[in-house]
Amino acid sequence: MKRVEGEVRKDVVDFGKALYARRLVTGMSGNISGRIDDNAIIITPSGYCKGHLKGFDLVRMLIDSGKVTAGGKPSMETPFHLALYKEGKEIGGVVHAHPLHCTILACSGRTVRTDLTPEGLLYLGKVAFIPYATPGSNELAENLRAEMKGHDAFIMENHGAITVGKDVAEAYYRMETLEYLAEIQVMAEGVGRLKGLEDGEVQKILGMAEGTKR
Ligand SMILES: [Zn+2]
Repeated sequence: MKRVEGEVRKDVVDFGKALYARRLVTGMSGNISGRIDDNAIIITPSGYCKGHLKGFDLVRMLIDSGKVTAGGKPSMETPFHLALYKEGKEIGGVVHAHPLHCTILACSGRTVRTDLTPEGLLYLGKVAFIPYATPGSNELAENLRAEMKGHDAFIMENHGAITVGKDVAEAYYRMETLEYLAEIQVMAEGVGRLKGLEDGEVQKILGMAEGTKR
């Protein structure tokens, strides 16, 4: 996979704005990265609001060594971004956010159910649940690596969510969809009646999604 660096930088800036505007992140939280080639990514810098980034604020670094080749200090969550790109050669974009309803579920020890609507299953498949580890730690990266096979969306216990895609755009749209489904789940549980799709229908729709997923 090889992409023009300027285009990846523009995607990270544009989808950072969207992430902030839609309140999927608040303050300086969250981070985004996009792959340029087999061994290089662009990633958001540490300590910046994702709603106000400029292309030149971003950091370029190598996937194998973690060496910074342009820009300042990368996101504190760099270890899990690098782990995802190392393991998932087809991954071209990673988004980490703290969307409200995803985080409510994460703090109650649950993942997002995608069997409530066909859209959820088609676009996200099953959502993995990642056990808690300190932000920025190699342990968190390892917990994620252990669960990444076959998943494009992850709920992180007592923390937030991660989505991946073939590029930054796809990872971002998965995050939007994930939060929409989490909101349905949290609100429907408040109503007290939550009914998922029948097992047969779940299998049928997961079958339809084959080929678009890792
Ligand atoms: Zn976080």
